[in-house]
Amino acid sequence: MSEPIIVFDKVKKAYGNFTVLQDLDFHVNQGEKVTIIGPSGSGKSTVLRILMTLETITDGVVYVGGDPLWHENKNGTLVKAGEAHLRKMRTQLGMVFQQFNLFPHMTVLRNLTEAPRVVLGMSKAEAKDRAEELLALVGLSEHAQKFPGQLSGGQQQRVGIARALAMRPKILLFDEPTSALDPELVGEVLNVIRTLASEHDLTMLMVTHEMRFAREISDRVCFFDKGKIHEEGTPDELFGNPQKERTQQFLSAVT
Ligand code: ADP
Ligand code: MG
Repeated sequence: MSEPIIVFDKVKKAYGNFTVLQDLDFHVNQGEKVTIIGPSGSGKSTVLRILMTLETITDGVVYVGGDPLWHENKNGTLVKAGEAHLRKMRTQLGMVFQQFNLFPHMTVLRNLTEAPRVVLGMSKAEAKDRAEELLALVGLSEHAQKFPGQLSGGQQQRVGIARALAMRPKILLFDEPTSALDPELVGEVLNVIRTLASEHDLTMLMVTHEMRFAREISDRVCFFDKGKIHEEGTPDELFGNPQKERTQQFLSAVT
């Protein structure tokens, strides 16, 4: 657990005059389980979306597995890495979204086999084997032929997790994976994430408001405020003995 697999080096992200991230320095080591907490609008989702290259950055450098996602050209402007390179880098990352983002017109099985077939060029049989393995892992083997709309929110999110894993990513990103769920469905999704967190090699970066869960599974917790890491530490440090007033305020409001 020593090599950084994700590095944000003085990253700035602005929409016009509005700065979301300012000079963000942040890293995640290989195999590390890191949780980002913080108020709404503090830039948490933006960090994950930048890693998925769903957003560009305004300044700085982001590295995934040692390679920059963008680099400066000779005029000093940031340009994306080439499409082929980006595609290769994207396969290292899987993301689980708050709103599941499943393909509604595809069966559960097809949701899991589509990207491995199209992006990785997996054979139909291989993609199906892998999908069935993953559906067993998330406890949904019986639901392979259903459409997302026929499943509960908790089941849909477990499909979302299986779909992210289908690409065999080294890094899994979770953006408030249980925030859209009815309270009684949260536990089944957290159980799946808990199982994944016990995998030593998988790097996990998660945004969540489930503080008890974050405390249980994280190696490190970062409190984000106004586009910066305001305070970070082990779960015991950050939850048990927060040093900064803003962190204390936030934690007493949400726990
Ligand atoms: P969080 O996930 O911590 O709630 P976000 O990363 O989603 O925060 O957003 C940070 C800030 O950036 C918010 O104030 C949001 O309104 C703003 N923002 C996000 N996307 C856009 C956009 N496309 N255009 C303008 N502002 C945006
Ligand atoms: Mg968000």
